[in-house]
Order: sequence, then C-alpha cells, then structure tokens
Amino acid sequence: MADDNVTKLPICGKKKADGRPCERIVGAPGQPCYAHDPTRKDDRRRSASTAAKSKLSAEVVAIRAETRQIMEDLREGELDRGDANVLLQGCNILLRTVDQGRRQAEYDEVRTEMSELRELFEKQRKVLDYG
Ligand SMILES: [Zn+2]
Repeated sequence: MADDNVTKLPICGKKKADGRPCERIVGAPGQPCYAHDPTRKDDRRRSASTAAKSKLSAEVVAIRAETRQIMEDLREGELDRGDANVLLQGCNILLRTVDQGRRQAEYDEVRTEMSELRELFEKQRKVLDYG
C-alpha cells in the first residue's frame, strides 16, 4: 500500500452516492462500513420493514377505494344512510388498525438504526482505544 501511515484510522473508502469516497471508520483496512457492507443482515431486515410498509399502503389504497364506493352507493341511493354509516365506521376502524401497524413498522426501523449506531460507536471506540 502507498499509504502506510499507521496513525491513520482505516476508512471504508467505498464510493458514496455523490461519488466521493466513504469516510466512515472501519475495523480493518479494506473492510466496508456498515452502510456499504452487502452482507449485513440489517439490510435484509430493513427491506423486510419496507415490504411491510408497502403492504400497509396497499391496504390504505384498498380502504380508500372501499370508502369511495360506499359514498358513491349512498349518493346513488343503493345504500341507505344507516348501512352506509355502519360501513364507513368499519372503514375507519380498518384505517386505524393500518395506522397502528405503520407506526410499529417505523418504530422497529428506528430501533434497528439505533442499534446499528450503537454498534458502530462501540467499534469506533475500540479502534480509537487499541487501534
Ligand atoms: Zn462506507
């Protein structure tokens, strides 16, 4: 290696989205950082949470379509006000359930990111202490 400055901490060096090299400190030279390591299991967890989210938004779309249909049927006299009211309440309950699911998915994602940061912090501290 051309750069044999031993006091320099090893960095990831992978290309970032803007084309500049990534400067995150890594455990050993040539090792990718947590964000650029394709083998990280957290990435799989994250895409699982993205899948959960898109499933939820598909449900929201379905509930909205259902609500529009109820409103249309009511307007055209195919439903009476009482039935429409009950059906709309049902849609409301479904929407609330979906919203709670979405919050849970977001919470899980934030928690995963926090544990990633904590892990990285521990690694960097070890590098600084013994590196
Ligand atoms: Zn990196």
